[in-house]
Parts: sequence; structure tokens; C-alpha cells
Amino acid sequence: MNINMFIDGKWVDALSGDRRNVFNPATGEVIATSADGSEVDAKLAIKAARKAFDSGNWSRLSADERADYLYKIAERLEEKAAEIARLETANNGKVIRATTYVDIPVSIQCFRYYADLIKGMKEESYTRADSSDTIIIREPIGVCGLIVPWNFPLMLAVWQIAPALAAGNTIVLKPSEITPVSVFKLFEIIEEVGLPAGVANLVLGPGSKVGNELAESLDVDKVAFTGGTKTGQSIMRAAAGNMKKITLELGGKSPLIVFDDVDFETAVDNAMFGIFHNAGQVCSAASRLLVQETIYDKFVERLAERASKIVVGNGKSENMEMGPITSEPHMNDILKIIESGIEEGAKLVCGGKRLTENGLDRGYFIAPTIFADVNANMRIVKEEIFGPVLVVQKFTNEEDAIEKANDTIYGLAGAVFTEDMDRAKRVIRKLRAGITWINSYHLAYVEGPWGGYKQSGIGRALGSVGLEHFMETKQINIHQHAKTVGWYSN
Ligand code: NAD
Repeated sequence: MNINMFIDGKWVDALSGDRRNVFNPATGEVIATSADGSEVDAKLAIKAARKAFDSGNWSRLSADERADYLYKIAERLEEKAAEIARLETANNGKVIRATTYVDIPVSIQCFRYYADLIKGMKEESYTRADSSDTIIIREPIGVCGLIVPWNFPLMLAVWQIAPALAAGNTIVLKPSEITPVSVFKLFEIIEEVGLPAGVANLVLGPGSKVGNELAESLDVDKVAFTGGTKTGQSIMRAAAGNMKKITLELGGKSPLIVFDDVDFETAVDNAMFGIFHNAGQVCSAASRLLVQETIYDKFVERLAERASKIVVGNGKSENMEMGPITSEPHMNDILKIIESGIEEGAKLVCGGKRLTENGLDRGYFIAPTIFADVNANMRIVKEEIFGPVLVVQKFTNEEDAIEKANDTIYGLAGAVFTEDMDRAKRVIRKLRAGITWINSYHLAYVEGPWGGYKQSGIGRALGSVGLEHFMETKQINIHQHAKTVGWYSN
């Protein structure tokens, strides 16, 4: 497969002609080559998006007209769902049941949700006793740079593309350089449904060049970024030049709290899903498990027993439960931090190594890994690992659980498992996190605003707030006839 950039309605190579290989992380095989752009290519895409925005071809369409395009994109995605799910699995590594039942359906739903939302959007208006009116309208911001990561390549792109386009903006999307395949298929659909040229542009290449240009350019009005906290900080600085609007969806180290009144096996099952889904490469992964001391030992033992039986392998097989790490360098980073846990004295209760048997050595597989007897100063407890690595901490009572859960620079997600609903609600309200669950984990709804407290981000994706972040708000104050102000004596 040859993947090129889509700029101003045309498929183009990088100006330099540079290309890069795209791998299947389960086999190490090259599955595609992609254009490898730089600042100059990003500049061209920004220029096209600027021209398209200023022409009004998109921004001044009615909400119904824009919504119709989004419905068409959703329809075509639905028709191609099985093919795109297969490609997403091949490029990212995630298991086919995840791409089939989560990534692709949620992407389709997201286009439909924002199409519905923009169609239903009403103007606010107020009339005062003196017959003056104030109307509050929402307008698109302009050119939006959307920078997204590799862990949910299509879905996280769509979480930004759908509201940005619904609101009337023009966009330049930059996927991760290691996972361009599914968004490439999406842009084929965008071309097919006939979005006006320059409204949606795809640029490919490294973050330090292409991404940074989107963050810095004075011609970009907003940047929506999903990725690591350090990159988010660099984007924030780069965006300051023209006071870009920014939304940042960043990392996490999210707690899952288990009280001793739970159904034991169900809680174990959910804790496993919380961390090992997508091989732990989920921003909201429940990477810190807090278990009440009364059931701690038994819980750790059962969890280790089940985790070591997770079926790990090439995600293309229907029975596979966990796939590889999406890239070799990331696998090596995870193995290093596992080493640090062992060196710092944590108790490794399962996993802790690369999997190489039965042909897995060709890919980048890490065994589901659990550490017990950890303390708050260890790197494995403090840092986001973004892999299948869980640390299990012990707590005594409600206050202790909350204190430990909030003891992190992050604030993305968190959950509590208990049969006592009053306690569950008390605890969840005290969690300093944006995405929370009581007695479940990972379920994400397009209506629910997605984002973090503290260093997990700024703003929210999804929900109606996700659309508002792509709009400017204007107040129009209306007097039917002008009058003198009555302020000056002469
Ligand atoms: P990353 O920050 O390395 O890269 C994300 C994107 O930013 C990529 O497209 C990359 O090319 C680009 N980029 C890199 N450096 C850049 C720069 N200097 N300027 C502009 N763009 C740049 O993150 P990643 O490794 O791709 O993804 C993993 C991280 O993303 C984790 O920290 C994870 O928690 C976070 N994440 C957050 C959410 C969320 O919704 N909060 C969702 C998914 C992932």
C-alpha cells in the first residue's frame, strides 16, 4: 500500500520525495510505505485549509448541509468497516475484536453524533424590557491543526475531525507517523463524498517537523492535540505565538479502587480489562490498582493467575485477547521501566518480560505484567508506562483510598468498585479525574466529555463540549434604532 498526503483535494508525495516504512507490530513486516513530509508540506496543507476556510465554501454552508456530508462519511465507513478493522489491526496491532467492536463502530457513531448535534444546535437569545436583544451565535474558529497518536489511530482522529468539520472549520490532520493506514482510508472516503478541496487535509511526517509546524503556524487558529504530556507542553509553548485556541488530551496514571464488599471474581475481571485492554496502550488505562487490605493478597494472587493466561499474539485471530506493543522503540521503553521496578524492589508477580516463543519474537510482545508491594516513590507507580504493566497498591479505608488515588500529577480517569452505592458516589466525587466509572471500566460514550484534570490535559473531546471547543462564541447586541447615549453634556 502506498500512502500519500491529501492536500487541497489532491494526493501528493512529500516535496522532498522522502518515504518511510509502515510496519505490522505483530510480525515486524512492512505493510505500507508512506510519504514522509516536513514543515514545507505542512505549510502547503495549512495554506490550502486557510484558502478553503476563507472562501466560505464550507464554513458558510448551513449546518444541515455540513451534517449531510458527515452522514455520508459515516455511511461509507460502515460499508468498509470490516476492511478498515483488518487494516487497523495490521498497523496498530490491536486485536481484531477491538477494532471490529470498538474503534470502527465508535468512529462511525462519532460522525453521526456530531452531525445530529450541529443540526440541532439552537441560537440563544434574550430580549430586554427596553426591547433590545442579545443573540448568541457560534461560529467556526478557522483552520484547525489536529495532531493524534498511534494507540487508537482512526477513532482518536475522528473524535477531533467530526466536531471540527461539523462546526465549519477546515482541518489539517497529522496522524502518528507509525499508524497512518486507517486515516488514509478515511481520507479516501472524504475524497469520495466530495468535501470541497482544502476543507480536510492529511499531512504525514514526524511530530517534530509536521506537528510542530501546525502548533507554531500563525495561519492555524486552533490546535487539538492528543498524545503525551511532554509533547503537550511543547505544543502549548509553540501555540502561544498567535494565541491559538488549544485543547490537549494527554496521559494518565489512573486508579481503579476495589473495596472488599465486591463480587471478587467480577472485580478481578474488570481490573484485568482496565489495564490489559489494548496491551495497556490506552490513555485512561487503570494502571494503578488500589485494593483494600482485607482482600489484597488473595486479589493479587488471582489476578496474576488469570493475567498469565491471557492469550497474547497476532491480533488478526478472532480468539486473540491481547496484541503487541505498537512499535519496537516503545516496547524497549516499557521493558526498561519494568527493569526499574525490579531494581527499586517492587515484587514482580507475573510477566515482566518480552514474549518470544511461537514466532512472537518477530513482533513486539510483552507479557501481562503485575507488580505488588510497591511504594509511591517508584517510577512504575509515578510514571505513565503505556503498556501492559500494572502496579497494585494496598489501602485501609475510604480516606486512604482517595488519598492514594489522587497522589499523581495526572487526572485523566479512575474507577471505584463497591456494592455500597453511597460510598461509591462519595469516593468518585473526590477523585480528581475527568473520566470516572462506578463498577465498570473503559466504557466510552460519544455523549460523555473526555479529558483530564491536572496534567492530563486542557478541555474535552466528545460530548457537546467537544463541539464547543471548535467554535467561537459571538454576542450580537441589537437595538432596532440608534439613540444618543446621554452621557455627555455638550
Ligand atoms: P506523542 O506525544 O509522542 O505523539 C502524539 C502525536 O504528536 C503524534 O502524531 C506525534 O507525531 C506528534 N508529535 C510528537 N512530537 C511533536 C511536537 N514536538 N510537536 C507537535 N507534534 C508532535 O504520543 P504518542 O506516543 O503517539 O501517544 C501516547 C501518549 O498519548 C500517551 O501519553 C497517552 O496517554 C496519550 N493519549 C492521550 C489520550 C487522551 O485522550 N487523553 C488518548 C490517547 C493517547
